[in-house]
Amino acid sequence: MGYPAEIGREQQAIAPVFAHLLGQEKAKTLLTRSLAAGRTPHAYLFRGPEGVGKQLFAQVMAATLNCRQTLDGAACGNCSSCRKFRSGNHPDFVVIRPEQGSIKIDRIRELIKALSYPPYESATRVVLLEDIHTMRREAANSLLKTLEEPPENNLLILTVESSKSILSTISSRCQTIPFFQLSQGDTVRILLEKGMEEKTAVLLARLSEGSPGRALLFRKTEMVETWEKVITVVMDSSASGDSQVGLLLQMAEVMAGLKENLFPFLGLLRIWIRDALVYPVGQEKRDGAMGNTRWTGRDWLGNRAPEELFNKLRAIDRAEQELGRNCNRTLVCEILLFRLQQQERK
Ligand SMILES: [Zn+2]
Repeated sequence: MGYPAEIGREQQAIAPVFAHLLGQEKAKTLLTRSLAAGRTPHAYLFRGPEGVGKQLFAQVMAATLNCRQTLDGAACGNCSSCRKFRSGNHPDFVVIRPEQGSIKIDRIRELIKALSYPPYESATRVVLLEDIHTMRREAANSLLKTLEEPPENNLLILTVESSKSILSTISSRCQTIPFFQLSQGDTVRILLEKGMEEKTAVLLARLSEGSPGRALLFRKTEMVETWEKVITVVMDSSASGDSQVGLLLQMAEVMAGLKENLFPFLGLLRIWIRDALVYPVGQEKRDGAMGNTRWTGRDWLGNRAPEELFNKLRAIDRAEQELGRNCNRTLVCEILLFRLQQQERK
């Protein structure tokens, strides 16, 4: 049972702990430094866009802190602790994520109770609390005391999306580690490693704006296919009035069915239009818009005046706001599609 926390720590001078992960140099430097010094704070706040590696870095931190025979400061990947991490089955790595949209106060109470017991077998129990911006105020408040002074041998890692605000009482009790969008090149490389074919990887790297996690979600939920269907209908002027309306209503249903993925989907529509503003026809090949591929609807957008494109972007903004206010999803999508489809005189 257990082993002294100091073992291995003093050898972690220049730790290649995160060498196998691409990007996030700032996070690597800050985390490596505290590992090398053998001094981690009570709690970290990993702050950055979704899908750029926050969870992965937390796992590597946990594995490194608990590895029984670190190699040059990095987790060995072979000891009994590392093997449990690899199988996603380590008793001292606790992950709490939102259920039905939020982290519930009951989960926080259970956690506080669990922390009062020592770790099962490790020097440091690592608790990963994902998306803490989904915590209601009462849940957040119940966590404050633990954050300030967690029981010995526990490290809390909280993650939050950079665009979301959280209670200052929470952030002030944590050391913040910033995460950023990855470069297009790094995102493509990660997607290729996941077995994606190159053309798709390049397109999804662009659409996900440097977030491999989001790119994988796009692929899993066939969001790009839906996106292509939706814009094909939006651009279709060959259908007669009634059947065009029918198709748009049908597509609005499909979009509404995306549920929580509707927000990233609106992001796809926004990039589609924004790229037409940023890269006029003919320039995209040189500058790499949409990943060097001639993408659906390029010419259709190219024939619209900038003012019309701005109006379409505003229509997307409005849809997003209305969804945020819990307006009827299908209705919001219907109105949006009619606005996108509307053609103004050039
Ligand atoms: Zn190990």
